[in-house]
Amino acid sequence: MSEALIQVKQLVKYFPVNNGLFGKASGQVQAVDSVDLTIRKGETFGLVGESGSGKSTIGRMLLRLGEKTGGEVRYNGIDLYALSREELRLLRPEIQMVFQDPYSSLNPRIRVGEAIGEALVEHGISNKKEVRERVLEVMNLCGLASHHIDRFPHEFSGGQRQRIGIARAIALNPSFIVADEPVSALDVSIQAQIINLLNDLQETRNLTYLFISHDLSVVEHLCSTIGVLYLGSLVEVSGRDDLFCNPLHPYTRALLSAVPIADPTVKREKIILKGDIPSPLNPPSGCKFHTRCPLAQEVCQVERPVLRDVGSGHLVACHLV
Ligand code: SF4
Repeated sequence: MSEALIQVKQLVKYFPVNNGLFGKASGQVQAVDSVDLTIRKGETFGLVGESGSGKSTIGRMLLRLGEKTGGEVRYNGIDLYALSREELRLLRPEIQMVFQDPYSSLNPRIRVGEAIGEALVEHGISNKKEVRERVLEVMNLCGLASHHIDRFPHEFSGGQRQRIGIARAIALNPSFIVADEPVSALDVSIQAQIINLLNDLQETRNLTYLFISHDLSVVEHLCSTIGVLYLGSLVEVSGRDDLFCNPLHPYTRALLSAVPIADPTVKREKIILKGDIPSPLNPPSGCKFHTRCPLAQEVCQVERPVLRDVGSGHLVACHLV
């Protein structure tokens, strides 16, 4: 097993909610609640859950793109939140992000070559000629043609824009990339191309990914370890094969039951969860999933289950497991 690149301990992020004329705090959204996770060098850790479960907030905090409420995030042993602004700026090339909608992060008036190269210039990595050569190199790696370098973002399709987003992220030779729903806005055939590209880049550049998605079938193709998030807390973490063959948490089972199976002879009963995900402004007491869990017991309403190892590194937070 490779050594840890990212170590997260008891990570907490609450967003204050202000109300009234004087903006007085009236509550707080508990977006991330006591999350522990480890991402090992060279692996792809998949983080799955419904919208509003806190996936993107965790992704941003692993790159220190926002302040935390509590806990610790370490990259290669370095406490990210203890770094000064300058120390963080120097580390930034190593930790990068790929966004769901690369178009919104591209300036429509800046040519693509300039957009990919601007971080290189900012970090003083190369002169103008070297920047152009490096940009052409990463464009080529990401499946973009060299004549695309002088085009504007609106001249590209969704899949090509995502390739531009990935090229921007790898231009600085990072070790760790957070990919936040990078394929969810794309057609299925284009999704496969982008997933293959991420796989190839990982192999050739020894990258480590946090891959955020609401789609377990996408995660299955790319991730070696998967964490399932519900209302800001991890409820199950396991190796991919173990999770898909032997899901233990009732929420994971419900999510998996909705994943289509290619083989028409295999039947899987779909588990329909009752109600919507509760508000993170006022999460349920005890097990946060008890309001929707088909197996809930009395104890579930009062006692929060802890995430514990039930064997071979398979972690589950449920009183019944
Ligand atoms: Fe369901 Fe109880 Fe397990 Fe929570 S602790 S998942 S409510 S059985």
